[in-house]
Amino acid sequence: MKKIILILLFSSSFINCNRKHDVSNVTTYIIGETKVAVVEKRCYPCDRGVLFVNLHDNEITSVKAAEQYLNEIGGRIINIENNGERLINFRYKGETFTFDPNRIYSSAGINSTITILSLRYDSNAAKGVSNFAKSFIADYINSSNLIISLHNNMDSSLSVISYKDMQAGNDSSGKIFINPAMDVDDFMLTTDTSLFARIKEKNINVVWENVEAIEDDGSLSVYAARHNIPYINLEAQHKHSEEQLSMLKAIDDIIREYMQETHKEDNQ
Ligand SMILES: [Zn+2]
Repeated sequence: MKKIILILLFSSSFINCNRKHDVSNVTTYIIGETKVAVVEKRCYPCDRGVLFVNLHDNEITSVKAAEQYLNEIGGRIINIENNGERLINFRYKGETFTFDPNRIYSSAGINSTITILSLRYDSNAAKGVSNFAKSFIADYINSSNLIISLHNNMDSSLSVISYKDMQAGNDSSGKIFINPAMDVDDFMLTTDTSLFARIKEKNINVVWENVEAIEDDGSLSVYAARHNIPYINLEAQHKHSEEQLSMLKAIDDIIREYMQETHKEDNQ
């Protein structure tokens, strides 16, 4: 796969870190015949092990919240640029195929997302998505000590209650904690039981997803759990920027702990 990497000093694209020494890298991947750019912003001091990830380009509230947080403490954030859209379209041999960038981290997930979202499934088109996912994982995911995946949802479309319903009658699929004073659309999800306990202690809506008991849908949470990478999904309703920032600040101690760990790449 061809990759084009640009380093832009002090650039002001979608994510804004406004401090001295802040750096942006743009890596362009080619899927089929379509270019997809991943923008990485490093806010000084930035050589840290925690990676903030924005996969869905329409979920801008989450990026604004993370950006404010990172302007204060420094760190790394990446986002897939997709013209403000959630789903990625690409051209392959005269046809358009579509996938969800949070369903491509396993072969089963790739086959399913292309089948559901495109007019038809094509194994060569799927291979292009698989190559992209492998490069994305190698370039950003595997070297992280902690991943914080940033998402926004529409009012009542996905909430902590959705997980309560999914887990009802199946104790092994996970656990849930609800703070009645919080909006049900604002919550965290983790695949790590100790992180679940710590977030619950802070009185934040939180879901523990037991990846042993659920189907591999190709989401980044399942990939992270199966590769022992601590993972937190930070979900808030669109426009709940303040709430999302407060949730980030509430887990500041957890984030800083992982930042203090030696970066995995240093040990290789
Ligand atoms: Zn999302």
